[in-house]
Amino acid sequence: MKTTTMSLDEALKEFFGFDSFKGMQRDVVQCVLDGSDTFVIMPTGGGKSLCYQLPALIQDGTAIIISPLIALMKNQVDSIRSFGTNDNIAHFLNSSLNKTEITQVKSDVTDGFTKMLYMAPESLNKQENLDFLRSVKISFVAVDEAHCISEWGHDFRPEYRRIKEMIKGIDVTIPVMALTATATPKVQSDIQKNLAMVDAKVFKASFNRPNLFYEVRPKIEPEKQLIRYIKEHEGKSGIIYCLSRKKVEEIAETLQVNGIKALAYHAGFDAGTRSRHQDMFLMEDVDVIVATIAFGMGIDKPDVRFVVHYDIPKSLEGYYQETGRAGRDGGEGRCIAFYDYKDVEKLEKFMHGKPVAEQEVGRQLLDEVVSYAETAISRRKFLLNYFGESWDEVSGDGANMDDNSVNPKEKVEFITEMKLLYKVIKGTKERFKSKHIINVLAGNNTSEVSTYRHNTSELFGIGKETDAKMWMAAIRQAIVKGYLYKDIETYGVLKVTAMGNDFIANPPDSFIVHKDHDYISQLKNADSVIINSKSSGAAMDEVLLKLLKELRKKISKQKNVPPFVVFQDPSLQDMANQYPITIDELKNIQGVGSGKAIKFGKPFIELILDYVEENDIERPQDMVVKSVVNKSGRKVYIIQGIDRKIPLVDIAKTKGMEFDELLEELEHIIDSGTRLNIDYYINDEIDEDKQDEVHNYFMEAESPDVDEALEELGSDDYTTEEIRLLRIKFMSEIAN
Ligand code: ADP
Ligand code: MG
Repeated sequence: MKTTTMSLDEALKEFFGFDSFKGMQRDVVQCVLDGSDTFVIMPTGGGKSLCYQLPALIQDGTAIIISPLIALMKNQVDSIRSFGTNDNIAHFLNSSLNKTEITQVKSDVTDGFTKMLYMAPESLNKQENLDFLRSVKISFVAVDEAHCISEWGHDFRPEYRRIKEMIKGIDVTIPVMALTATATPKVQSDIQKNLAMVDAKVFKASFNRPNLFYEVRPKIEPEKQLIRYIKEHEGKSGIIYCLSRKKVEEIAETLQVNGIKALAYHAGFDAGTRSRHQDMFLMEDVDVIVATIAFGMGIDKPDVRFVVHYDIPKSLEGYYQETGRAGRDGGEGRCIAFYDYKDVEKLEKFMHGKPVAEQEVGRQLLDEVVSYAETAISRRKFLLNYFGESWDEVSGDGANMDDNSVNPKEKVEFITEMKLLYKVIKGTKERFKSKHIINVLAGNNTSEVSTYRHNTSELFGIGKETDAKMWMAAIRQAIVKGYLYKDIETYGVLKVTAMGNDFIANPPDSFIVHKDHDYISQLKNADSVIINSKSSGAAMDEVLLKLLKELRKKISKQKNVPPFVVFQDPSLQDMANQYPITIDELKNIQGVGSGKAIKFGKPFIELILDYVEENDIERPQDMVVKSVVNKSGRKVYIIQGIDRKIPLVDIAKTKGMEFDELLEELEHIIDSGTRLNIDYYINDEIDEDKQDEVHNYFMEAESPDVDEALEELGSDDYTTEEIRLLRIKFMSEIAN
């Protein structure tokens, strides 16, 4: 291959058509090329595949990619083949192939054509395959979805635990790479130990989602709460997760009866029904999907505005994945979980029939969920801490975006009690879990306490003045703050950290613990708040917004263009704030230029005028004076340059910009509603067929997202740049 002299950037462009690496991709690729063991932890969509695909393509030999599902494998292989010229660049080797196919795959590998060989762990386990792999040059082994190794992951697969053994059977010196989107330190340490790669270089991206708002509500009259919430946010898309199929159907029905456009989704429906319901959600024919966690894997609706966990989730990993489907476009995303300790007990009961080890794991995962539900600290901080990330609740991105931050729990000075707590933990040699520690503190003579004779210890009952709930809260909070930790190996025994030992040696003057919310009285308040909240509302007029969205849908069907082409969400929201009633006023709305105002504006301002008159609404006074989008000097130069048909590369050069930056600026201009005619440039650069195809794509698309377009259209035929240029043309012509 000619790749040996290529730079990484050139290779990226050549094979994938991408202009730049995403996040830490470049460093990861370099690390693999250096022959080191590499561990990649990035959120879903972070671009992990490229981290092994690119080095596999560049290096001599064949990389083995281990992936859990045949369907996933096939997908991946197809997508790589679409980059290259030869289909034999990537193969999968698994039980779905016949003898002839297997022979073909093996000969392609032997002949050095195949750079990536996808396998499931089961096939790697077969002696004939191991023998074969020993006879060829292997560049490295990549274990994708590596959380499958860990019992603590949400998708544990026992056969994944034998991977290292098999690799050793081929060649002990082969570098190993692991990739996952599950970020908990437990899973991470499990993976590294199991793959014997504790010294691997670890690349971990941040998992923070600053636009999501996290909230836990007591599960009292949950249907009522749910219906109220959805009605107050009518027209917005949301997902409701339930644990059982039965509950899914029940809730969907309840919502429907209450006039909410909702559908059920779970694995019990046939494929046709599932995909129909999914499409109706994507096309906004229904607002709400009620689903088991089976829903969402392939869903990429950018404007899901709320995700409700009707039942407590089984693990925080799962919870975080599911809430992650809200607000992908960076806009509003409310994550509400209903919490009732009884649900936890129910889940624990279900575990009883299972093997002991599995029970312990399940219980531990559930404990973390309970801690999350009961915590007083910022939910975001808790979640990120859980994923091993530190985050500052004052200055961190996404501060004040959870119920506990907005409505803090009561603070209690706990320094004296903390000293007692440490006394008991140390006094019992750091060998017990929180429940036992609290029993000793409180002086509860349980059978375990007497077994260890702690009832005769001087520690027994030294903290009996303090409520057990407060002890629990203190322990949870001390863990989150890093003074204590729960040992993984021993399923949750409380240990003192280095920070905790410092605390003991030099106790601070103060240690604040937050009291748990009093759910009962809180609910009484919440209830009246919810009932009265109709009039209070946010700054935005939700009723008007809903009408505007309906109108947008109607217009979009009339004009046969996707809704986002008419007006994007932020524009409608701004209208619901500002009540524009003339075309001139409309031009002042975010994302609305004069082209767009004239093209689509009339029915909208008419609707708003009617609405304002009917409801006696006092419109904001500053509406008319609000200035037009601030056009900086650079923007003005670009717009004028394009008017004079100066080649875009020259405009970029004159302004000292990378071409990429210029594109970004053009996108800003377009998205703020101004028209740009760059046909003169596009016609020179991109042939007509392609132009048509991209135009047709965007006419049908759900979202104006470039990455999605690239995925759909195929990155062997298109570069990101081409699609961006054509999107600018499209939005300019159709939307503005
Ligand atoms: P993950 O496995 O981490 O969930 P993928 O490897 O499937 O993510 O990548 C997610 C998306 O990001 C894909 O559509 C991929 O084409 C795109 N992508 C990856 N790297 C880049 C890059 N450097 N530039 C642009 N897009 C990228
Ligand atoms: Mg992946």
